[in-house]
Amino acid sequence: MIYKYCGNEMVKGYIQCRDGVFSGSAVEAYRCEKCRKIIINY
Ligand SMILES: [Zn+2]
Repeated sequence: MIYKYCGNEMVKGYIQCRDGVFSGSAVEAYRCEKCRKIIINY
């Protein structure tokens, strides 16, 4: 996935969530190491 704000390729990963904010125990997330930002898909 390309981060549309900087055009960088984002690194796919997962964020663990034990508080039940999201459905399931982990959500997909994309990280831009250049911008140091994370986008979460839930
Ligand atoms: Zn970026």
